[in-house]
Amino acid sequence: MALRNIVKEGDPILAKKCRPVEKFDKKLWQLIDDMIETLEESGGVGLAAPQVGVMRRVCIINVGDGPIEFINPVIVEADGEQEVQEGCLSCPGEFGIIKRPMHVKAQFNDRDGNLCEVEGDELFAQAMCHEFDHLDGILFKSKVERMLSEEELREMREED
Ligand code: ZN
Repeated sequence: MALRNIVKEGDPILAKKCRPVEKFDKKLWQLIDDMIETLEESGGVGLAAPQVGVMRRVCIINVGDGPIEFINPVIVEADGEQEVQEGCLSCPGEFGIIKRPMHVKAQFNDRDGNLCEVEGDELFAQAMCHEFDHLDGILFKSKVERMLSEEELREMREED
């Protein structure tokens, strides 16, 4: 495994649509393993392949119960609403208030190509929406109600 560099906002790669994964081979597994290590090191909740410069529909989410590997994910159900704070590893130090569904059901492939399904609420639902958006070249900042001010960010840091 190896750490990969996280691409920052402003890099055109983050605005592109990713291609589906067709080959579930060693190269894919290497990418996934590297992304898991990179996410762990970053302390974030999710990481999408374009954030490490790879234009494939792959992302990793870990809301504290271990990493889940999403390949070619699609949201098949979304219900409810939550207004939450959100940030992104590609936009360090920036946070916004955003509306996300409270509950999301997704279908995806695992690393062997098997079709899987998962449901999640709250942070997990939020993370699925955020990471899957990356695969379509969408950053959370284009969907926020508003970004947090310097003062709000300072208060947030003091609470930590
Ligand atoms: Zn992000």
